[in-house]
Amino acid sequence: MARKLFITGNWKMNLSAEQCTALASKLAGSVEPDWPVAVAVCPPCVYLSVVGAALDGSAIRLGAQNVYCESNGAFTGQISPPMLADIGCDYVIIGHSETRHTIEPHEDDALINRKVLAALAGGLKVILCIGETLDQRKQGQTESILEAQLTAGLANMHSSLAEKITIAYEPVWAIGTGQTATTDQAQQAHAFVRTCLAGQFGLAAANGIRIQYGGSVKPTNAADLLAQPDVDGALVGGASLKADDFLEIIKAGLQNASQTSGTAV
Ligand code: PEP
Repeated sequence: MARKLFITGNWKMNLSAEQCTALASKLAGSVEPDWPVAVAVCPPCVYLSVVGAALDGSAIRLGAQNVYCESNGAFTGQISPPMLADIGCDYVIIGHSETRHTIEPHEDDALINRKVLAALAGGLKVILCIGETLDQRKQGQTESILEAQLTAGLANMHSSLAEKITIAYEPVWAIGTGQTATTDQAQQAHAFVRTCLAGQFGLAAANGIRIQYGGSVKPTNAADLLAQPDVDGALVGGASLKADDFLEIIKAGLQNASQTSGTAV
């Protein structure tokens, strides 16, 4: 099944309201609605509404960087899936390596799974991040880690919801380090992820799930990564903060889009 490439910008904890508006406005005015590449940006949660306003009427979708696993109640400081949907979010990133490994307390697979199920129930589409650390890769554990994170992260999810899932394969050692996986490493991991997804949800569902690569994607390496058969897009951190760089990555996706079409964002 053909999959439409999907490029997402993760702005992390960067930019002011004014800078978010300027970046979103420039992207909104540059990405044509008929481009065969889906695009979303994930600003800091306090700026979701201003970015949503700047994107209004454009082809670019809005996403959040995290979410809580309950829909309302006494959960001070948390934001629920229905709240994100209410302010116009289509997507939420769950299980980013920084929430798994950097920000304390670290999120584990059980919490990530609760968030995935809650986000889907709240009407959001999910970008589920998975990836191995450098130590795990050196010890030959990459595939077992990816399989475990997928199995646990998507536990108890009905296969009919698979179309609402994007997987972001993000080797931890490549995020924000300038060190990118080689095209072979990326393709090998993505093909393995798809095999795992087929085991969990069936081949048809697995073939419809987009698998983004994330980890120091830049204008200079995007085209080669996006040309891999199982690389269906990119989750871009640092390079998504500069409109010109992010647009170049999207345009690298356009080069490959003639080979792909289909899945609506
Ligand atoms: C990310 O934020 O998911 C990411 C991959 O960051 P960077 O592109 O900066 O490595």
